[in-house]
Amino acid sequence: MNESKQTALMGLGLSELSLLVEDFGQPHYRAQQIFEALYRQRVVAAESISALPQDFRQALAGRGYSVGLPAIAKKFVSADGTVRYLIALADGQSVETVWMPEGDGGEAGDGSEAGLELSGTSRKWNRATLCVSSQVGCAVDCQFCLTAALGMKRNLTVGEIVGQVCAVLNDQRVSPPDARVNLVFMGMGEPFLNYENFIRAVRLLVEGVKIPESRMTVSTAGIVPRIFDFGAEPLRPKLAISLNASNNELRARLMPLNRKWNLEALMAAARAFPLRHREKLTFEYVLLQEVNDSPVNAREVVELVRGIRAKVNLIALNAGPGIAFRTPEEGRVLGFQKTLLAAGVPAFVRRPRGRDIYAACGQLKRTIEADADSQEIAQTPIGAPRAV
Ligand code: SAH
Repeated sequence: MNESKQTALMGLGLSELSLLVEDFGQPHYRAQQIFEALYRQRVVAAESISALPQDFRQALAGRGYSVGLPAIAKKFVSADGTVRYLIALADGQSVETVWMPEGDGGEAGDGSEAGLELSGTSRKWNRATLCVSSQVGCAVDCQFCLTAALGMKRNLTVGEIVGQVCAVLNDQRVSPPDARVNLVFMGMGEPFLNYENFIRAVRLLVEGVKIPESRMTVSTAGIVPRIFDFGAEPLRPKLAISLNASNNELRARLMPLNRKWNLEALMAAARAFPLRHREKLTFEYVLLQEVNDSPVNAREVVELVRGIRAKVNLIALNAGPGIAFRTPEEGRVLGFQKTLLAAGVPAFVRRPRGRDIYAACGQLKRTIEADADSQEIAQTPIGAPRAV
């Protein structure tokens, strides 16, 4: 096998696989067989696609084709059952993917499903949520997010986005649709700045891996033109928008992208978004002590979302090194929620998952810091992590 020039099969759709098998002089139905092997059986090596004749498998390997599943470099297990995976990509870069047993994020959005039965005997969970990365690093530079400190390295390929999911499903030994797996595109990166690859990955995850689109949610920091594009997609996850501030002055300070697409532009896109039957838009709001968490801020949020079929997910800041904000006191979080609820805006406080292993929202910063992480987290009161 030629190790130096590997071409990944992971990420290819049926039409691309059809061209490939044609190129090898193979019958057309072989494309479907490879598709099934990649996304349903989730094979790790092309040699083990047992539906294919031996000589075709050898020919594929001989011309440098491999599955191209990203490797799991490291695994951190939280006291609450959350697992943070460090995923190694072929070029030496890495991203993080988070497995949260018993939900949160995809469904009620209030964390009510979280942490129910973590140490069951035969089956550890009824459903789980996988938090997927879309880029190595991020360009958006939100002031409260640890991923921002990495800067933007590169977009993930379609195969890397789908491959993260397949690698974790393999590790957890579960298969949708029997296993109820929710996907949230809320990991590292801004999915709407890697729009084409994100959408193509969604298609493979729905049609190949068999995760229904109704179980997927994508979160954007507010790339307004892409919100319009996304609304027009025939196949799409649900939409969450990271609001995070209640007026332009504050939002521009916390999220520099607000200077390009301000709240008027963002809320106009949100209002125009074509919701499906019973679908709701989600707004995420990171609460920062005495910065954006006052009753006045809450009332401004009420005005912003008025008339939109939406719910608001409140996330108390997950702290991190170099982040110049504080986590609000619980009373302020509940007060904020109360103001929204009193005005008829559905509002949930998202339960933090895996804070002790740096797996919670805004804490994904990958790799090199992994050892430093272990030290930092060992000091947290929640419980010592286990690197597996
Ligand atoms: N780039 C996309 C996808 C990431 S989703 C987006 O911004 O929406 C990550 C969510 O976590 C966002 O809603 C973001 O506002 C929130 N977040 C970022 N940093 C955080 C932190 N330190 N504490 C709590 N939530 C944070």
